[in-house]
Amino acid sequence: MKAVYIAKHGGPEVLTYGDRPNPEVAPGEIMLRVRASALNRLDLNLRDGKNYRGALPRVMGCDIAGEVVTISPNAHTDLKVGDRVILDNRTKCGVCESCRMGLDQNCTNGKRLGVDLDGGHAEYVTAPAANAHKFPQTMSFTEAAALPIVAHTAWHCLITQAQIRPWDDVLIQAAGSGVGSMGIQIAKMMGCRVITTAGSDWKLLKAKELGAYEGINYRTTPDLSKRVLELTGGKGVDVVFDCVGADVWEHNLKSLKPGGRLVITGVTSGTKASMDLSLLQGRPLHLMGSGGRSRRTFADMMKMVRQGSLHGVVDRVFPLDSVAEAHKVLESREYFGKLVVES
Ligand SMILES: [Zn+2]
Repeated sequence: MKAVYIAKHGGPEVLTYGDRPNPEVAPGEIMLRVRASALNRLDLNLRDGKNYRGALPRVMGCDIAGEVVTISPNAHTDLKVGDRVILDNRTKCGVCESCRMGLDQNCTNGKRLGVDLDGGHAEYVTAPAANAHKFPQTMSFTEAAALPIVAHTAWHCLITQAQIRPWDDVLIQAAGSGVGSMGIQIAKMMGCRVITTAGSDWKLLKAKELGAYEGINYRTTPDLSKRVLELTGGKGVDVVFDCVGADVWEHNLKSLKPGGRLVITGVTSGTKASMDLSLLQGRPLHLMGSGGRSRRTFADMMKMVRQGSLHGVVDRVFPLDSVAEAHKVLESREYFGKLVVES
């Protein structure tokens, strides 16, 4: 089959479009004819090898949508050949202590499609049947591929971790990022008032189309937290959802009202930040990380996709032989939502 894989780490030039053996369906698995697969920033870490030293060659692509073409005879599933599905890219072992306790988000033997296992920048991919979720007939494969990781991450952070409520004011950093664009939709869906940030006015306009109440351009308004306080009558927000990290850490803390909740899921601007610990004692704040995500929350998120409340946000589409071009756009950050590859 045709696929995009890496046989060594490096820049976009190591992404190879070529032939790879067709995958074989293992017990409990299904095979998809991949129709679309989306890029994620973690692809850059895998490609350059800074945070990944697994086995190569590896077919890349973590977010996958396609048609079921083969089902293992012993797979316990109601899926049928021809079903249109997206994949939860995290496999769970089902036998470790966490899995046995119903806490599969903490599975100690989990693997990731497109990272530890071959992914979706290919014509075919295999995955456990339990990882496949049907999506609406009215949704394209391309839009569906834009959903899994960012929608699941934003859902997990806002619903499970921060437990957003309809009366919350929510600051969502990086409106143009995949998780930012999904976070805006989820917070809006829950009835929250969303303030968001971006480095371009055109991204803020798109964020308002998704339901944001107000946008802050951090290039023209560098004192983010001051603006957040102005927009909330001096009170601050109830929740901050951040995928930026070090560059905005101080603004995140200053933007929160007493008792506010911060949930962080990405550190693209850096991992080291200092903080005034007295803020925790005096206000008091609740600081949370994202951590693993469960099968149950993926299924919950998919209910809202099927009801038409959550949509994949696609910026651009690339053919399978142009993944290297897509990686260059990914590195440039000049996009809103997701970059999707069609197979
Ligand atoms: Zn497990």
